[in-house]
Amino acid sequence: MSTTGSSPTVADVVAALDRRYPPAWAEEWDRVGLVLGEPTNPARRIACVVDVVPETVDEALAAGAEMIVAHHPLLLRGVSSVAATTYKGRIVHRLIKSDVALYVAHTNADVADPGVSDALAARFGLTGLRPLHRPRPGSPADGPGRGIGRIGELPAPMTLAELARHAAAVLPATAWGVRAAGDPGRMVRTLAVSGGSGDSFLAEATAAGVDAFLTADLRHHPAGEHLAAGGPALLDAAHWATERPWLDDLAAHLRDELGVETVVSDLDTDPWTVHAAAPRPDDKEPRP
Ligand SMILES: [Zn+2]
Repeated sequence: MSTTGSSPTVADVVAALDRRYPPAWAEEWDRVGLVLGEPTNPARRIACVVDVVPETVDEALAAGAEMIVAHHPLLLRGVSSVAATTYKGRIVHRLIKSDVALYVAHTNADVADPGVSDALAARFGLTGLRPLHRPRPGSPADGPGRGIGRIGELPAPMTLAELARHAAAVLPATAWGVRAAGDPGRMVRTLAVSGGSGDSFLAEATAAGVDAFLTADLRHHPAGEHLAAGGPALLDAAHWATERPWLDDLAAHLRDELGVETVVSDLDTDPWTVHAAAPRPDDKEPRP
């Protein structure tokens, strides 16, 4: 922890984040921690982003950030070149030339308590939170309150159709919006949420007995078969929108812990940029 009056360094930020999101808590396939940067460099202003893409790097540089903390790994799979002629190599070059460090907290931030899905659950005012998918007993991430996704009670029950509209209003706006699967009139009291791709937790949402499960990147066959088997209703939000809420929690923690300035990116990095709903004869909603 940095002491008052001294400028926090990249190493101080790494230490603070490693305490909150220990790298050992990440999934085995994941790649987290300091990606690039000089540990002794100052890190007085930190940009918090979901994705490290040219546009969020532009934002961070324009804001004068000395470090970027991202959710998604820039380099997840092995690379044999970071030449500036490649998409990711170009990003690496820009960051190094600008003396901007990059740190990633991914599945270790998902599993933490509070973690990525706590910030998502907070958007819905869910209470009585418990994890959707608990870490394997005895694994490094195993511990009270920890796990991927959260289950909780809505402040007031609402139909699936109402919940989908509510979700679109409380989540960061995207072109994708929110779509729901299941009976639109089904009442929802208990909701499971999982930031990012939650496709693999459908069975756990069913086993937990929730009324609905909100996540991202759901697919035709798994969703259809899940519903046919009597599983909870599904809400499919934009991936970025389910993880963006966590950036506020991350930034607040960095400010409290290190006294740094933070910049939170609101740039929608979801790849989907257009959503067109087919007009319906019985649709009273005006359409653009
Ligand atoms: Zn994600």
